[in-house]
Amino acid sequence: MEEKPVTLSLEVFPPKTSEKYEATAENAKKIAALHPDFMSVTYGAGGGTGDFTAEIAAEIQNGYGVPTLAHLTCVSSSREHVTKMLSLYKEKGIENILALRGDLPQDGTRSEDYRYAVELIRDIKEREGDTFCLGGACYPEGHVECAHKEDDLGYLKEKVDAGLDFLTTQLFFDNNIFYNFLYRAREKGISVPIVAGIMPITRAEQLKRSVAMSGTEVPQRFRAIVDRFGERKGAMEQAGVIYAAEQIVDLIANGVGHIHVYTMNRPKIAKAILEQLSEILD
Ligand code: FAD
Repeated sequence: MEEKPVTLSLEVFPPKTSEKYEATAENAKKIAALHPDFMSVTYGAGGGTGDFTAEIAAEIQNGYGVPTLAHLTCVSSSREHVTKMLSLYKEKGIENILALRGDLPQDGTRSEDYRYAVELIRDIKEREGDTFCLGGACYPEGHVECAHKEDDLGYLKEKVDAGLDFLTTQLFFDNNIFYNFLYRAREKGISVPIVAGIMPITRAEQLKRSVAMSGTEVPQRFRAIVDRFGERKGAMEQAGVIYAAEQIVDLIANGVGHIHVYTMNRPKIAKAILEQLSEILD
């Protein structure tokens, strides 16, 4: 039986200021040189760095030939700003968008035009039809703000029905949580491809930050790794890469066809993961 090829994508985030642009572009170039199937470029929830998202995505796509997925958040954006971003993405030749709400700004300011990602998705679909391939975010453990997983899944179904072509998951450290989510999503009638998001944790403080933001469960097996190696930089990096690579091997072995690695502008880590998987992804 012929096996379906697995797609693997990598992520970069844009700089907050123009002074950091060159350094980010350099890291993006190194990550692109690893030839992922596509690269995603995140978007600041505040919306202020959107131009950098478009710029970096265009550079990766047009300069290095790697297709890009540009993120777009709406939590602090007006309809006018979204219009401007859609025009900019089109002008730069960007065809794929991850449509998101964004994390709630701490100062309490909110968009008057959008409350949830579903409104952004409907808006893009209404105005642009099928111009863009649209993705959305999903949460195998439920989104942190949603008290009941079942409600979260219901809202996810609404998002997909509004016109999403695929979903990408929040990071998770226990593949069984992903398999369980996949089962529940399919039962709910969500049939679009679901890309499994894996974050290599290579520093102990990164774990605390990621867990605080995502609410993700940390299995005992991974806690032991961080307890043992967290204070030794090289050892933690190696252990984090191996743990993430093992998760990916297990996902592929169980038929998952799309993997996204949250590489966070770190070509060294991206390369180390791909080296662990060189024969598997061949
Ligand atoms: P939504 O789908 O709108 O969901 C947000 C919350 O509202 C959930 O609790 C949901 O259950 C609830 N909800 C949804 N619809 C309704 C409704 N109709 N009524 C009541 N409740 C509802 N953030 C960034 O700032 N920039 C990025 O580039 C970025 N990239 C990301 C990529 C991925 C793959 C993921 C998983 C997350 C990313 N995030 C990013 C983080 C994301 O913005 C946050 O997790 C945010 O809090 C939720 O965004 P969402 O699009 O999933 O929101």
